[in-house]
Amino acid sequence: MDNFEKNRDRWSRMSRQGREQETRKLKMLCNCPQCPSYNECADAKSDLAFCIIGKGTCSFEENGCICASCPVAQEWGLMHQYYCINGAELDVRGAGRETIEPGN
Ligand code: SF4
Ligand code: SF4
Repeated sequence: MDNFEKNRDRWSRMSRQGREQETRKLKMLCNCPQCPSYNECADAKSDLAFCIIGKGTCSFEENGCICASCPVAQEWGLMHQYYCINGAELDVRGAGRETIEPGN
């Protein structure tokens, strides 16, 4: 079980309140607002942490991705980038269509 799978397992055992708390933490740590690909649409909706929550409804252009330097990527053992375009790590890994239920 790699680090991402361990975190997924931890997430699956959290209460809804725990997931909401974790989601707030992920959004605070997320580097996306400093990224050249992040845009006004996502900013207006406070869309962040696409790696875990998944894609939002905004469209993005590939102008660079700084996920690799994000503390969330290191903590969760993420292996990809451009989550805002490609979807969450779970989806990118092709581990099925299950999605992580975000908090508010
Ligand atoms: S890894 Fe990327 S999408 Fe995930 S929280 Fe960090 S900057 Fe945001
Ligand atoms: S997922 Fe990557 S490319 Fe998209 S906004 Fe976040 S850091 Fe930038």
